[in-house]
Amino acid sequence: MGREESTTGILGGKPSIPLDLIRLSSHLFPSSSLSLHTPTPHSITMANGDIVQQLTKLAETYPKELGGALVLLSALLFFLLNRATPRKVLDPVEWRSFTLTEKIALSHNTALYRFALPHPNDSLGLPVGQHISVMAEINGKEVMRSYTPSTLDDDKGHFDLIVKTYEKGNISRYLSLVTIGQQVKIKGPKGKFVYTRNLAPHLLMIAGGTGITPMYQIIKSSLKDAADQTKISLIYANVEENDILLRKELDDLAAGSNGRFVVYHVLNNPPAGWTQGTGFITKEIIEQHQPDGGVGSPEHGVGPKVLLCGPPPMMSAMKGHLKELGYPAPRSVSKLEDQVFLF
Ligand SMILES: Cc1cc2nc3c(=O)[nH]c(=O)nc-3n(C[C@H](O)[C@H](O)[C@H](O)COP(=O)(O)OP(=O)(O)OC[C@H]3O[C@@H](n4cnc5c(N)ncnc54)[C@H](O)[C@@H]3O)c2cc1C
Repeated sequence: MGREESTTGILGGKPSIPLDLIRLSSHLFPSSSLSLHTPTPHSITMANGDIVQQLTKLAETYPKELGGALVLLSALLFFLLNRATPRKVLDPVEWRSFTLTEKIALSHNTALYRFALPHPNDSLGLPVGQHISVMAEINGKEVMRSYTPSTLDDDKGHFDLIVKTYEKGNISRYLSLVTIGQQVKIKGPKGKFVYTRNLAPHLLMIAGGTGITPMYQIIKSSLKDAADQTKISLIYANVEENDILLRKELDDLAAGSNGRFVVYHVLNNPPAGWTQGTGFITKEIIEQHQPDGGVGSPEHGVGPKVLLCGPPPMMSAMKGHLKELGYPAPRSVSKLEDQVFLF
């Protein structure tokens, strides 16, 4: 390519930016050259490989004219690739692959799976209370299941899933067999519940086992917001003491909440000396932990809201107790405005 292809420069009005550089910048920033729009995954991939090579080639061809422009372009590139504004990487339509970087056993059958996001500054892009789908091909069929990350979008560069492995399960078993460095397909956000500040004066949460994950996300998000005044009571059921997930995290959140968040554990098989609930969650336990005034107004934002997440038999029992206490039955697919929301 000859110098006659150069065009008017941005560095002082004289012809100084060769067409190659314009082409390179329009390749990097497809919708408008040198504008500060978000680079696509494609442009980031290219930045990792071809860009340095192309810049070097250009510098050799146009040493003087390119000096200033290259410095500018490099600074722009550096800014875009390391920018302070995080990118949200989750897509509701397209399956995206994320690499497993860590697996930590939390109990005999439950583990925390940490997945890397493409860039350390990226966030998943999941509104609080919503969940993602994990998909795998099992016996020639695409199988997908829902999971709620225990991390928030404030956690940059990674997201965590806490998953209980079922011996005969499809996706939970598949995840247990994924090794560090392998990729897993994920899509989202999904779900009708999106938590926002002061959504209700009081949230009564009833969770069993891994049903804690959406609750944990909401509790964390609410408590870290000083302008959020929502009171939260969590009744959390497990079989044994060592099945309790995120126990320290929950206890620490309760201790630092100035009474805004209270957690009550119920165990089927409690150890000797256990002082909290034993057996199954009863109507009386719910009655003790529901907000003053009981069911209150069913109107969204005025009365207390009940959130349920756990194994189906437990959820059926909870629906029965709540009905006796005057709460409406959850719909088959709950909506945000419902007084009783079943995840
Ligand atoms: C909104 C939402 C969020 C969720 N978040 C999480 C989460 O963060 N962590 C998590 O671990 N799970 C979560 N789940 C449950 C998850 O979606 C799967 O249902 C679970 O991992 C089992 O899937 P699977 O493919 O392994 O088993 P499946 O293929 O669905 O089931 C096969 C067999 O596994 C066993 N099994 C499966 N589920 C149960 C159960 N609940 N109780 C007893 N046996 C069972 C049974 O033997 C069953 O026949 C969530 C569910 C929803 C709806």
